[in-house]
Amino acid sequence: MILLDGKVASASVKENIKATVSAIISNNQRVPHLAAILIGNDGASETYVASKVRNCKEVGFQSTLIRFDNNVEEKVLLDKINELNNDDNIDGILVQLPLPKHIQEAKVIQAIHPDKDVDGFHPINAGKLVQGLPGIIPATPLGIMLLFEHYKIDTKGKNAIIIGRSYIVGRPMSVLLSSNLLYGNSTVTLCHSYTSNLKELCLQADIIVSAIGKPEFIKADMIKQNAIVIDVGITRVNDVTSVKGFKLKGDVLFNEVKEKASAITPVPGGVGLMTIAGLLKNTLAAYQKKMN
Ligand code: NAD
Repeated sequence: MILLDGKVASASVKENIKATVSAIISNNQRVPHLAAILIGNDGASETYVASKVRNCKEVGFQSTLIRFDNNVEEKVLLDKINELNNDDNIDGILVQLPLPKHIQEAKVIQAIHPDKDVDGFHPINAGKLVQGLPGIIPATPLGIMLLFEHYKIDTKGKNAIIIGRSYIVGRPMSVLLSSNLLYGNSTVTLCHSYTSNLKELCLQADIIVSAIGKPEFIKADMIKQNAIVIDVGITRVNDVTSVKGFKLKGDVLFNEVKEKASAITPVPGGVGLMTIAGLLKNTLAAYQKKMN
């Protein structure tokens, strides 16, 4: 069994980005700059944004964290995004999700200029992805593709099942894996909460990507011998033995499934780290597009 280690694969992506930033600095140019917007103080969102900011620093990017109270007016947020769109020193903008209920997610995503949309959620980028045009790919699916590339996972002609159809992970992942790409060309089945024969489909799959957010939902009896298992799910599960009071759990019952899989990602230490690598890569690409 190969452990698809997000720490190792993301370090390699980050080394390449760092080298590019060093060359930018040697040329006396400004470095890529990411603006992150965080609304409220949800624990998980705080952790994700802090990690994104830390990783920007690690590769030599500039970053700006903009915080708003949970009750910020939608217009104030949209005005800030507009200001960042018009700021030539900002290359990438991300708004950490989820948003408070009174703010329309679609409106916020569509307010970000597509060229600065480093999460790749804007409909223009989603459309480009579907048509195979160059655009910004959502960070998590991009991170999974980088993981396949790092471990040279042969996806061509394989049966892949993707569980979860969000525009953040499952749906764009289904497009990438079925596209005519070096680490694509799989035959993809996209499953969701109304899929009636999930276990049957999973048992036929060479590759399983699970993005549902149900801890330890995928058990060993649901996967084929030697399947490749990519666990996107991250759920905080109460745990009194942990200092933080919770533990992170993936969608996959790791200890059981690892005995049957040929390759598997851990949680934490798998796709989450690759998502950050994807975000950094998108920010660098947005910068390069602007500067060239
Ligand atoms: P979501 O939470 O918006 O939706 C969940 C999806 O799962 C839906 O499409 C639903 O149809 C499907 N689903 C739910 N129960 C199901 C079932 N029993 N069988 C089949 N499908 C089922 O999706 P999301 O935003 O993609 O998040 C999914 C999980 O991935 C969450 O745990 C989230 O925290 C995690 N996530 C992790 C990363 C990362 O970097 N590792 C990034 C994004 C999301």
